Amino acid sequence: MSHPAAATALRDAFGRELRYLRLSVTERCNFRCVYCLPQGCDREQAERPLSLAEIGRLVDALAGLGFTKVRLTGGEPTLRPDLCDLVRRVAATPGIRRVGLTTNGMRLAELAPELRRAGLSSVNVSLDSLDPDRFREITGSSGFERVLSGIEAALAAPIPTVKVNAVLLRDVVDGELERFLAWTRHEPVAVRFIELMETADNRELFRERRLPAAELQARLLRLGWSELPRDPSDGPAATFGHPAHVGRVGLISAYARGFCDSCNRLRVSSAGDLRLCLFGDQTVPLRPLLADDSQREALAERIASAVARKPAAHQLAWGACGSASNLAVTGG
Ligand code: SAM
Ligand code: SF4
Repeated sequence: MSHPAAATALRDAFGRELRYLRLSVTERCNFRCVYCLPQGCDREQAERPLSLAEIGRLVDALAGLGFTKVRLTGGEPTLRPDLCDLVRRVAATPGIRRVGLTTNGMRLAELAPELRRAGLSSVNVSLDSLDPDRFREITGSSGFERVLSGIEAALAAPIPTVKVNAVLLRDVVDGELERFLAWTRHEPVAVRFIELMETADNRELFRERRLPAAELQARLLRLGWSELPRDPSDGPAATFGHPAHVGRVGLISAYARGFCDSCNRLRVSSAGDLRLCLFGDQTVPLRPLLADDSQREALAERIASAVARKPAAHQLAWGACGSASNLAVTGG
């Protein structure tokens, strides 16, 4: 049964159609990336994450409001034992056409075949360095080889779209650019370089190691890459291609002018708080309306009235957020 309301998108006050949910399914993480969770996060959450049933109701309501795409993120989403069930539930929701996952890749090799069967359409794997020692310095993990195996398993499954996300850190990506690019020569991967964003936890690193996307773009152009026409599915990424490479390169810069103009997403935290902007602190609690099916209309109304308050653009004051699950520009 197709969803009757799926074709009509919810619009915010600036006419932007909202079709895309980014949902954090846990705050926990098994890495301690220097730019994200330098202290790690292995404690049990003070607030328990939304259950499978609660997430199901949330996605039903959003599909009814015209949402077509859901990305599961975190924290590290593969730490949830019911991740494949979550993917299956979301993928089976009438109106939802794409289900994505953003992961550090540590558990991907074992999960990829089942995730594929569950209906996962795309996976973004974070990998900031192709050097195992540097990888360890950045993530606090010695799982470099496991992450590479995870990417191979995702390509082999095959999960239809496989992207690699690398945060732009001075003295890392700039030194390894050609290795990253060599990877795209024969593999149909999209490597997306993400400008480091400042948070309350990484100010010093940001000052010392930020590598502007514009610098990388200039190098790509010198190496014969050219910017491709924008596809709405690229999200905030500018995409580059090269005649001799089957893969693609993306550049994501939250600091670029126009970054917010095509924002088509809502974010919901693992505890069920709807966040209107990646960089804002406005949240709307949805969990009280997710306990059973009887509140579906009230839930849809709460979401619609929150969307009407979505701001035009972030302020780039950079003071309001700073938790890992807020940083979610990279799904595209
Ligand atoms: N744990 C998963 C992972 O690492 O892919 C999913 C959650 S992680 C918060 C989502 C994405 O945000 C990752 O690609 C990560 O590199 C990126 N990210 C985290 N902190 C960031 C920051 N300060 N600046 C830019 N990207 C960041
Ligand atoms: Fe964990 Fe992902 Fe943050 Fe790294 S970027 S600490 S893997 S949540």
